[in-house]
Amino acid sequence: MLAYTYVSQGNFQLTEKPKPELADAKDAIVRVTLSSICTSDLHIKHGAVPRAVPGITVGHEMVGIVESVGSEVSAVKPGDRVAVNVETFCGECFFCKRGYVNNCTDENGGWALGCRIDGGQAEYVRVPYAEQGLTVIPEHVSFEQALFTGDILATGYWAARISEITREDTVLILGAGPTGICTLLCVMLKHPKQIIVCEKDPDRLDFVRKQYPDVIAAAPDSLESTIRENCRNGGADVVLEVAGAKDTFRMAWQYARPNAVVTVVALYEEDQVLPLPEMYGKNLTFKTGGVDGCDCREILALIAEGKIDTTPLITHTYPLEQIEEAYDLFENRRDHVIKVALKGK
Ligand SMILES: [Zn+2]
Ligand SMILES: [Zn+2]
Repeated sequence: MLAYTYVSQGNFQLTEKPKPELADAKDAIVRVTLSSICTSDLHIKHGAVPRAVPGITVGHEMVGIVESVGSEVSAVKPGDRVAVNVETFCGECFFCKRGYVNNCTDENGGWALGCRIDGGQAEYVRVPYAEQGLTVIPEHVSFEQALFTGDILATGYWAARISEITREDTVLILGAGPTGICTLLCVMLKHPKQIIVCEKDPDRLDFVRKQYPDVIAAAPDSLESTIRENCRNGGADVVLEVAGAKDTFRMAWQYARPNAVVTVVALYEEDQVLPLPEMYGKNLTFKTGGVDGCDCREILALIAEGKIDTTPLITHTYPLEQIEEAYDLFENRRDHVIKVALKGK
């Protein structure tokens, strides 16, 4: 089968690999009908994910049809349409039992697919702990609608869930890339008083203004005045940092009001500075990244109810055979691309 492979730093290639087989009673094999490229794939390509293992098939955002299941899998069966979770988790360890599935202590726990084990930019993928890793897609939800459930939507949902947002809050979201927009959609479900989105890319700002007219969209150079006009207590009540750019960690704590919650969702390519003397007395609560992706069922239910719609994010679709072209477009952000969907054979 075709599989997009992490050969070495800076080098991904479309290669032929044998079709995966069940390796454990808790595995499932899924035929990938639709997958996507995530910025985290680019982080692997740039060598910023030390855990990533050369030789693996990349890709951790996908949906498909169950092909076969191991003897201990009963929650899904062959023929089921499923969303695949970015995270692998056993469901039984200390962390899993508390919902902290990102820290599952199983050897494959956490982000394994497309990082430490073969992922889904391929015709088929083996999913360990399939009972946790797969969620059946409701009947009237399409593969396109469900595509981001297990990764960027799970991330946005988790970020909104842990950020202690109330209806009185002004929420600042830094970054309106695909994960930023998924975060925005999930923050909207909490009905805060106001949402401000800050983004430097004019295309992405336009997208936010057109799709979500109730949201205040600001470029970084006008953020300070936007915050001054809209936040009475010296900053946002809640800040979600989803940009991961050079200055955005600093912006996150600077534009937070005293005693705010600052949730860092971004995956940085470099170390960040936490200047504690400067922020002394601000009494901030920081929550840091690493999605606990265990809300896929709730997310799919919200999609089925029409409360979350991420289909406008899919700006381009390519067949898997043309994945190199798709990466080139995504990586160089050409043609107003937001997300690329790759169709399986
Ligand atoms: Zn991702
Ligand atoms: Zn676990």
